Amino acid sequence: MRHQDIAAALQDLRDRHRYRQRHLLETPQGVDIVVDGKPYVGFASNDYLGLANHPRLVGAVRDALEKWGLGGGASHLVAGHFALHEEAEAALADFVGMPAALMFGSGYAANQAVITSLVGRGDAVFADRLNHASLNDACLLSRAEFRRFRHNDLEQLEHLLATTPARTRLIAVDAVYSMDGDEAPLKKLQELADKYDSWLYIDDAHGFGVLGEGRGSATEQGLHGERLIYMATLGKAAGVAGAFVAGSAALVAWLVNVARSYIFTTAQPPALAAGVLASLQVMREETWRRQALADRIAQARRGLAEGRFRLAPSRTPIQPIIIGCDEQAMSLAARLKEQGFWVPAIRPPTVPEGTARLRLALSAAHGEEQLERVLSAVLAA
Ligand SMILES: *Cc1c(COP(=O)(O)O)cnc(C)c1O
Repeated sequence: MRHQDIAAALQDLRDRHRYRQRHLLETPQGVDIVVDGKPYVGFASNDYLGLANHPRLVGAVRDALEKWGLGGGASHLVAGHFALHEEAEAALADFVGMPAALMFGSGYAANQAVITSLVGRGDAVFADRLNHASLNDACLLSRAEFRRFRHNDLEQLEHLLATTPARTRLIAVDAVYSMDGDEAPLKKLQELADKYDSWLYIDDAHGFGVLGEGRGSATEQGLHGERLIYMATLGKAAGVAGAFVAGSAALVAWLVNVARSYIFTTAQPPALAAGVLASLQVMREETWRRQALADRIAQARRGLAEGRFRLAPSRTPIQPIIIGCDEQAMSLAARLKEQGFWVPAIRPPTVPEGTARLRLALSAAHGEEQLERVLSAVLAA
């Protein structure tokens, strides 16, 4: 793209209803938000447990800032690995029942680290078609053969595994698909990984904090073994920032030694690790949050079933309302906005062509009545 071509390319995006822009959030993250000067009930964040502005998390970070200061100052391998990082990693590993864990500044960086450190030229990675973009980017960057299988199609995956000449294989999936809210068949994937001597890499960005009593999808399904690698982000249900990878101690040591997105980046501020520790405590103690979330999910599904909308096979806080046409999805989102509901329309290329949708994201912090009102507005539209 040359600079003189940018304006026309942006106009083309506008013409195709694909132009993206940011909106100004003027309150903390939560369900009652002010965006661009107007109040809304928000159904757009991944703050599924309502922890992003929880006083215990905020307080823990504030105390840690006083004690440890702000900046990480260096990469983990140079002089940026603080006692709080180490403590949070141990707590995360314990929480998800894995031998070891390693924290990253983002899920995007964690996905790059794992995939590029384990597979390269001559190896093969098998990826679900609906995987998150960060996994796809990591697969491309790895230079391994990148084979995508149809969404949740185990037969196709098995065929690919059975016929690959690659020595190192890695299956990469989202545990909960971010735009559909449905799940990967993890147990069966682990059986295939074991049968064909492949790594199984699970991105649980949307399951951690929510499924398995908060301990995530892999724990809920009782998965374990040295071929299993678990990743979850800490900026969604956990309400903080960053991500972690959990697996064997050997895997973690390998990542520390070779993962470029771990090595060549500055450590997260140590105070954020204090936020992670507080988040794990709140997730353990405030079990009512997951119950409230489950109640809202059931309520949303009952409500949508009454309308003309096809329900997604989702038991998670992600309840998409599939519209199809980009323009219709945009106009429904705009009408909801006028009525004070912030529900994002998701268009291609984030989702496949012809499946533009509203992505209704629920939170433990939503009130029954707030959800009832948005559901009536959707059904009336
Ligand atoms: C959000 C997300 C990521 C990226 O995590 P960040 O911490 O936001 O960089 C990775 N995978 C999935 C499935 C996600 O939803």
